[in-house]
Amino acid sequence: MRPIDEMDRETCGNLAGIAFDIDDTVTRHGQLELPAFRAMHELRAGGLRLIAVTGRPLGWVDVLALHWPVDAAVGENGAGWVWRDGEIPREGYFEDLEGRGRYPVTFERVRRRVADALPHVKPAIDQRARRCDLAFDVGETVQLPQPDIDHLVALIEETGARSAVSSVHAHAIPGDWDKARGVVRAARDALGVEIVDELPRWLFIGDSENDSAAFAYFPVSVGVANVERYVPRMRQPPRFVTRLDRGRGFAELASHVLAARRPKRGK
Ligand SMILES: [Mg+2]
Repeated sequence: MRPIDEMDRETCGNLAGIAFDIDDTVTRHGQLELPAFRAMHELRAGGLRLIAVTGRPLGWVDVLALHWPVDAAVGENGAGWVWRDGEIPREGYFEDLEGRGRYPVTFERVRRRVADALPHVKPAIDQRARRCDLAFDVGETVQLPQPDIDHLVALIEETGARSAVSSVHAHAIPGDWDKARGVVRAARDALGVEIVDELPRWLFIGDSENDSAAFAYFPVSVGVANVERYVPRMRQPPRFVTRLDRGRGFAELASHVLAARRPKRGK
């Protein structure tokens, strides 16, 4: 990983948009940090599109997409997304209604196996707002030891679901989505943009293991400083890393990008 100071003016000047993770990328101890929120406003004022992408519930994303300065918000690690069409909220899903109808059976299987083998592991506190995802608390109100997280992931995968782990949750994912695929679909629905046609113009910033699909997909990828603890467990670490952690790291990236996009003095 290289320091973001090494991200050149041409890369920054070319950017069309930034997709960003939420937990521990713009938040600290679960709360949105002021420098990060200010940075979102500044990035948009600077002409950049913003897409928030999180493992948090689609029920939360309904609110984020309407109340935050973003063009779209993707929830449940890519399972669905919400955007504003004027004053009207619109939504999209990775799978159609029929496909989504199959998830409860998978979730029940996972729940039963986890209750038998790891009875102390509890559902995430935001589970009731989820539509396509079953999440367990690994680091939000409790701190599960790594062997328990590994065991939980193995149980989830034995049921046929996929898994993803963030700094706060372990997810059972009953479909083929991930954060990168969710961002691509959201950009198509919300902005009419095919990211694949302009991939070097989109930057992704995140902090943990459930961001690794996006770190791999986006050639301009950034980790906030706290990504360091997860790098050994990632198949693809981000290309650049900030000096500061969490929301301050996000603000550091925004400052660097915006400074590099300003015309040089005397020109
Ligand atoms: Mg995160």
